[in-house]
Amino acid sequence: MTAGFMLQSNLFTDAARQFPEGEETANAKYLIRGGFISKASAGVYSILPLGLRVLNNIVQIIREEMNDLGAEELLMPALVEKKYWEKSKRWDTDIIYKTGKSSNAHDFEYGLGWTHEEVIAAIAVNYIQSYKDLPSAVYQFQNKFRAEVRAQGGLLRGREFLMKDLYSFHVDSEDLNKFYAKVAKAYSKAFKRLGLKAMMVEASGGAFTKEYTHEFQVIHPVGEDIVYHCDKCSFAQNKEIYKPEHHADCSGKISESRAIEVGNIFRLGTRFSDSFGLTYLNSKGERLPVVMGSYGIGPTRVMGTLVEVYHDDKGIIWPESVAPFKVHVIDVSRDKKITAGKKVYDALQKAAIPVLYDDRTELRAGEKFATSDLLGIPYRVVVSEKTGSKVELKKRTQNSLKIVTQAELIRLVSSK
Ligand code: ATP
Ligand code: MG
Repeated sequence: MTAGFMLQSNLFTDAARQFPEGEETANAKYLIRGGFISKASAGVYSILPLGLRVLNNIVQIIREEMNDLGAEELLMPALVEKKYWEKSKRWDTDIIYKTGKSSNAHDFEYGLGWTHEEVIAAIAVNYIQSYKDLPSAVYQFQNKFRAEVRAQGGLLRGREFLMKDLYSFHVDSEDLNKFYAKVAKAYSKAFKRLGLKAMMVEASGGAFTKEYTHEFQVIHPVGEDIVYHCDKCSFAQNKEIYKPEHHADCSGKISESRAIEVGNIFRLGTRFSDSFGLTYLNSKGERLPVVMGSYGIGPTRVMGTLVEVYHDDKGIIWPESVAPFKVHVIDVSRDKKITAGKKVYDALQKAAIPVLYDDRTELRAGEKFATSDLLGIPYRVVVSEKTGSKVELKKRTQNSLKIVTQAELIRLVSSK
């Protein structure tokens, strides 16, 4: 979790009294009302300080799993010149935002990056010459731009959104398959750490490939995808390609569920290597095309999905691994100097526990509690005259309270 501490009176944002108008989904309603995100236009959002703390936690978990695969992080341009898309014959897709030519004498046209196979293949040509340079893998976190027809559902479908895209390079499809299986494992681990149950589902490759790809789907009624999955074995297919006959040797029952796609992995083969002349020399000195894979996760969509999965009628319930802070200290003592709350806040800081301290004196206790429930910080600590030198501890997931000493508090919120 991102380190840090904050006085609520100093926060750039404030929770709004009401839900935003015209938003249907829980993630849009709660994230906007809580001051995590701000809508710029349909499918385009600013990530505000509180929201960025969450997004950074999500990004860090994914980054750690990518690094564990041995992949290296880089950052490619979002502005991708037309010639790249022309090489791969993807200039004329509906999804791409085109800049048009600028008026200040430059003759270039760009497509805003909606995926980066072209750019990475062009770079790799400079660094992959022989089988000794393979396998290798690089990834980035970058905003992608897509002219989505229906941009609604808050962070679930943006026209600008954050993507983690990983690209791998191999001598042949056997080596690609080995890495592909490792990525699938890393994805499962990452989603588990993020608090999501993501099911690996077979899907069609769309514009990329004739082979099957795999999607990571979180079963949820707001999802746009429909998946068929077995209650006994690992069989799961997207409706686009569903073939009941593929599920022959199992007595399990197939269910149909709506789901949110949070990740997707592709075997690209030589589709992009061929377009960009990405080849290598094998040990016999023969020139062969590099075999590529591409693997995406949408951290902003993950953030939206987490709110869809983890909320109640009062607000968000962040899993600890991604929460903006671990502890929310609320002072409701009548003592306007609020020294008791400050002491607890200082002690938590000293113990390096990320903490938000509601030090605002002008608000009623009820208002503070309502905001606390909306923000969804895992532990709520209430300081008041009622409990003397002790404090009241409540988990956002539970209704029961505990009265604990400051030392017990530190111990309880430090464990795990
Ligand atoms: P979808 O089927 O939802 O349109 P996709 O199959 O086109 O997505 P990919 O190109 O594989 O998606 O992108 C990788 C990941 O990026 C997706 O699994 C998803 O998590 C995320 N993603 C894709 N499109 C969007 C979007 N419009 N808004 C937010 N996240 C997105
Ligand atoms: Mg998809």
